[in-house]
Parts: sequence; C-alpha cells; structure tokens
Amino acid sequence: MDQSEKRLIFTAEDIARQVQRLASQISADYHGKEVVLIGVLKGAFIFLADLVRQLSIPAQLDFVRLASYGTATESSGKIRITTDVELDLEGRDVLIVEDIVDSGLTTVFLREHLLAKNPRSLRMCVLLDKRERRSVSIPLDYVGFHLDKGFVIGYGLDCNEAHRQLPGIYELIV
Ligand code: 5GP
Repeated sequence: MDQSEKRLIFTAEDIARQVQRLASQISADYHGKEVVLIGVLKGAFIFLADLVRQLSIPAQLDFVRLASYGTATESSGKIRITTDVELDLEGRDVLIVEDIVDSGLTTVFLREHLLAKNPRSLRMCVLLDKRERRSVSIPLDYVGFHLDKGFVIGYGLDCNEAHRQLPGIYELIV
C-alpha cells in the first residue's frame, strides 16, 4: 500500500493524549481497587500496553481472542471465543479494553461471556467508537475517539493482518 491509499486521521500525539486522559479517568474511578484489564486480541494490544502503563492503580491483565465469521471489513455478527481468559474473574472489577466498536455485536457477545464469570463489575473501554453501523445499544464507559464511518488501520488495527505497527490511525481510502 502506498501513501495515496490511506489518510492520517489521528497522530501518535493525538492518541497519546487520549490514552493519558482515559488512564487518568480510569485511575480516579477505580481508586482503592485493583482492576482486571481484558485486552481483546489482536487489535487492542498496543492500546492496552500504552493504557496500562499510564494507570496509577494496581492492575492485572488477561486477554481474549474472538473470531467472527465475516469479511475483512465487516463482521457477520456470528462470533466465537478462540482464546478465553485464564484469570478467575469471580468478584473482580473487570474492564474490557477493545480497539474499536462498530456494529457492537462483538461487544455484546463478549459482555455476556464475561458476565457469566460473575465479576463484581464489568465496564468497557474502547479506543474508537464508530457509530455508523451500530445495531445494538451498549454502554461504552471510556471512549478515546468517536468516528462517524470509514475503515481504519494502524495502532494495532489491521487490514488482512497488515499495518498494525503504524504509530498513527489512518482511514483506508478504497
Ligand atoms: P463489531 O462487532 O462492533 O461490528 O466489530 C468489532 C470488530 O470489528 C473490532 O474489534 C475490529 O476487529 C473489527 N473492526 C470494525 N471496524 C473496524 C475498522 O474500521 N478497522 C479495523 N481494522 N477493524 C475494524
């Protein structure tokens, strides 16, 4: 892919500012508690790594990996867990860390899955809230950026596994 096929929408500095803001808010809200951050692989790996290093509260980490049957740019809504969390979430304060919420179907599925593990609380932190195709109502407690539409790559987000290492976030121009 050359430069003409992608457009920078959020610079590394923009992202760092939002991550710092989210971390401050989370640290204040969970003051006196230990939070369990659940990163959703693979897209959230850079966001989670940056976020956790800005927290001023104790944190534990785990991961889930989901697969959705769909195309590269649109999820079908049929989702399954391919790697589950290993920590016991019973009675814990759990925060899901997601890269992007689009239709919301992945988040609904994951929330149900994690709620069945009886956490004391379950909240959602998402870097990008893309509302154009939202088909379900879901509570997003911490949001980095709002996006109207478009398919984005970089800062962990891929297109067919490429471009995750870009430090900024770009919109793919098709
Ligand atoms: P949803 O179930 O909310 O429609 O889709 C969520 C998942 O679809 C995200 O976790 C991500 O893997 C993928 N996704 C949705 N929109 C985008 C996008 O603009 N760029 C990339 N790279 N992935 C996206």
